[in-house]
Amino acid sequence: MARIGILTCSNATQDLGCSSVSCLADSRKRKGAFARYPEDENLTLVGIINCPGCPTLTGADKLLQRIRALTEFHIDAIHFTYCIKSLCPFKEKYKKALEETFPEIRIILGTHEEHITPEEFRQRVKKLFLQPRLSMPDVILGKD
Ligand code: SF4
Repeated sequence: MARIGILTCSNATQDLGCSSVSCLADSRKRKGAFARYPEDENLTLVGIINCPGCPTLTGADKLLQRIRALTEFHIDAIHFTYCIKSLCPFKEKYKKALEETFPEIRIILGTHEEHITPEEFRQRVKKLFLQPRLSMPDVILGKD
C-alpha cells in the first residue's frame, strides 16, 4: 500500500484554473508518474496542496511550512505536479529541501502522462498568461 500526496503549482491552480483533473485521472489509471505503483497495490491519495507561491525572499521556508498539510499524515511520497516539473524554476531547490527535511518521504517529479513536450507546454501556458484580460482596474476606470 502506498500513501501519496500531490503538490500543485498555484500559478496553474489559482491563476489558470486547473482543478488537477489530469493528475487525479492518471493517479486512478496508474499512468504517467503513477505507473510506478503496481496495479494490485492499494494507492491512497491522502491530500493535495498548493505551493504557497513563488518564494521571493523566503527560499523553501514557505513551502516547508505549507507541506506539513501532507507530511503530518503518514505519506510515503509527494508528487510534484507536471506543471511544477515543466514550469517551476524552483523545483530542484524545493525537492532538495524536502528530501533533506523529510528523508523518509520520496519526492517524485511528475504526475500525469506527458502528451506534449515540456517546451510546447511552456509555450502554451505562456500564451495563456499573456492573453489580454480585463481586471479590477478596468472596472474602477470604467474601461470594461
Ligand atoms: S514556486 Fe513554482 S510551484 Fe510555486 S507558484 Fe511559483 S512556479 Fe508555481
